[in-house]
Amino acid sequence: MRPRCIICGVDMWPCKANKVYCSPRCIRAHNTMLEREAKAEALKDRRCETCHALMPVTMRADARWCSKACKNAVPHYYRGTRTCGWCGGSFRAVNKDQVTCSLSCGQRLRQSKRRAKG
Ligand SMILES: [Zn+2]
Ligand SMILES: [Zn+2]
Ligand SMILES: [Zn+2]
Repeated sequence: MRPRCIICGVDMWPCKANKVYCSPRCIRAHNTMLEREAKAEALKDRRCETCHALMPVTMRADARWCSKACKNAVPHYYRGTRTCGWCGGSFRAVNKDQVTCSLSCGQRLRQSKRRAKG
């Protein structure tokens, strides 16, 4: 049997029978193919943070929403993390006026402001 390239199928006669690629170009093509498959595998279970639909595998690896509409549905104050005005820890705000990570930090912050004033 004559060896054929597993990528482009070209007849590689009279090359050795155990040769599987006709050229470095086909080796690269195969590697790219495997990489793409591995990436698709890793990305296929992500879900949109807004509608929880499965994300298309064509989306960027760090994408968090399936579409612009879903991203825009998230209030801007909730999109990123904030730094607590009292303890300095990072937290996710649930309303746009939130400046501390917790109620107790908020209370202490208010008390310290009151003290500073008077
Ligand atoms: Zn080939
Ligand atoms: Zn979505
Ligand atoms: Zn805090």
